[in-house]
Amino acid sequence: MKLLKRIIVLGFFLALSSCQSQTSETNTPTLKTNKTVDNSKYRDLTPEEERVIIFKGTEYPGTGIYNNFKDTGVYNCKRCNTPLFDSKDKFNSGCGWPSFDDAIGENVKEVLDEDGRRTEIICKNCGAHLGHVFRGEQFTSKNTRHCVNSISLHFEPEKKITTDTAVFASGCFWGTEYYLQQIKGVVDTKPGYIGGDVDNPTYEEVCSGTTGHAEAVRVIFNPDSVTYEELAKLYFETHDPTQVDRQGPDIGTQYRSEIFYFNEDQKRIAENLIRILENKGLKVATNVTKATDFWVAENYHQDYYIKTGKQPYCHRYIKRF
Ligand SMILES: [Zn+2]
Repeated sequence: MKLLKRIIVLGFFLALSSCQSQTSETNTPTLKTNKTVDNSKYRDLTPEEERVIIFKGTEYPGTGIYNNFKDTGVYNCKRCNTPLFDSKDKFNSGCGWPSFDDAIGENVKEVLDEDGRRTEIICKNCGAHLGHVFRGEQFTSKNTRHCVNSISLHFEPEKKITTDTAVFASGCFWGTEYYLQQIKGVVDTKPGYIGGDVDNPTYEEVCSGTTGHAEAVRVIFNPDSVTYEELAKLYFETHDPTQVDRQGPDIGTQYRSEIFYFNEDQKRIAENLIRILENKGLKVATNVTKATDFWVAENYHQDYYIKTGKQPYCHRYIKRF
């Protein structure tokens, strides 16, 4: 009798420690198969994946590949690829299965188990069995644990967008920015000052012509979408590169035409474009100079033409290439 009691108590604790108790039904593929699913639209599953995803089985705790996995990205449904969980919501509950305190949008559907005790979670799109959700355990502030079989998930690492930087000076930086910021693949533009002798100069100091800075625009761009050469061509086509220390009505060294390069590639591309323009008969005044400190200009210069709704007075597009 005592032994029986101990077995019952032990069994009870085992059931508690397991976040997805493995009843014989849930592991038996022959049950709960009355749902007909059109498998043709979905990824082919291995028998082991099918056992969990279709027949609502449970992988053995601590064995799933995402249990102690910490990479940044999104966990998609293994079967239909719907994004289900974000790595930012993953936490270590110690239960032996990947745990998330939130799901992506409404993509995870909750269904009360037939026994009315636990809440199953399934992919809203394809109905794939994921695991169960538990609430009130105080693991995280959201007080929710989506306890998920690794095998039901397919991890997609976060795509890192690599960016590159370019700096162009072509007179009043409002106009330079106006054209460059419209290009697909340009992630950010900032008017500022470069090429002078004073740290953190003000607009008034630069305007006085005594600091040696040029008004310029720093462009952050995604080289997969737009190349440095495309940006440099647009730069040459939106100002007059033959003017020395001025651009239209703006006169002074701060309005000079100058490319500030960050690497030998940029230098070569800039010099090559200048050669092409010279071969077309232009007496190009543009300097090509190694980039030094770039000082972002005062707030009121940022996105000037977007904020004011005006058109540049000092820059216009002329096809040159
Ligand atoms: Zn799915």
